Amino acid sequence: MGVDSELGVQAATSSSSAERLAGNGEENIKKLHILPLKEADAQIKGKSRMDVLADTLRQIRNTKEVVRSGDLVKASNAEFVVIKCDPPQGCLGMDTDFFVDGAPVICFQKIQFSAWGPTEFSSEQLFNEYVRPYFKGEYAPYSPDAKRVRLLYAGQVVKVGDVWLQVEATEPTGLGLVSTDTEIFANWDSTPEFEKVHILPFMDTLPRAYEYELFGDYLKPYLVANPHRKYQANEFFTYQGVQFKVVACEPDTVARIGKSTTIFCEGQLQPSLRNLLPPNLMSQVAQLPQGLQMLLLSSERSTREVEEMLNQRRGLFPQTIEEIERFDWPPPHGHAQQTCMVCLEDFELAMPCRRLPCQHVFHQKCIDEWLRRCTDCPICKANVDRAMRNY
Ligand SMILES: [Zn+2]
Ligand SMILES: [Zn+2]
Repeated sequence: MGVDSELGVQAATSSSSAERLAGNGEENIKKLHILPLKEADAQIKGKSRMDVLADTLRQIRNTKEVVRSGDLVKASNAEFVVIKCDPPQGCLGMDTDFFVDGAPVICFQKIQFSAWGPTEFSSEQLFNEYVRPYFKGEYAPYSPDAKRVRLLYAGQVVKVGDVWLQVEATEPTGLGLVSTDTEIFANWDSTPEFEKVHILPFMDTLPRAYEYELFGDYLKPYLVANPHRKYQANEFFTYQGVQFKVVACEPDTVARIGKSTTIFCEGQLQPSLRNLLPPNLMSQVAQLPQGLQMLLLSSERSTREVEEMLNQRRGLFPQTIEEIERFDWPPPHGHAQQTCMVCLEDFELAMPCRRLPCQHVFHQKCIDEWLRRCTDCPICKANVDRAMRNY
């Protein structure tokens, strides 16, 4: 069980100091997601994961050890990893809910990082000054006596010092860890910067109740907080409830917004159908999640189509929806975009997702809501029903 050295000493000395520690601000964990390593999963086949874990978890609860994401837990010689805790660290309590579903955690054979930051580094510098230190100390590459690991997956972005590291690819794909046998690759990411970019907010997501300055209060803070992000035309993002669309960019490619980029944000986007829809339909639309409203209203659909979609006359059969690939983030294979285009939130570890036949990925609850109304992929418009039922 991984505890940091200070807490480890306290937990080991006596139960009264552990009590004090727990009383000193360590909250009880409400939800804990824990998964076996792949080898352990094969080993415990046939038994329920919870049965294998029960004794060990009870022990951790009794000794009030502090638990956090990445901790390794050995239970009857099978090794598990704490995937996620809510709150992020704390003690186990009588009321902790345990989640044990999901694909087992893999050991990567290879992992490829791309790095980006204020000054460019050679691959060697990058490796020695950023990548190696990221897997050091308590987060050393996995070995039989490791206590804690870093959990990684393709698409993930982490910040090490002033450098952003993005996991470009892993082999095999899925949620996994770096072991002493993993080959680690790291390259500098030389994605260009835009010369010009035009970003507009959706009018109906702008605050109405108070004065604001669009660039200073919304766009700039978002860009400053996400300097590593790449954009391309027609992409959406959201900041504090305001939804933006990249309406045009120069050059017209995938690039970053940097110091030399000229940013235009004059104007507002008006969901095109909004003015045409009769009030009764409009009030139905208003009850849908924000992203869904936007997808519905910003695409070119007739009033009749919108009406039929709202009345769920154009959706998929529930059993067809159930047959679409489902997984807990990250995707067990292949690449996926990082943001759910229905709710405009980034995917987070262990969130239930679906991948449509066109390979676009969404939160399960978001896409199910959409597919009950519409047979097309919200992003590429490919017909999901046809692909699923082969007609
Ligand atoms: Zn979503
Ligand atoms: Zn699609």
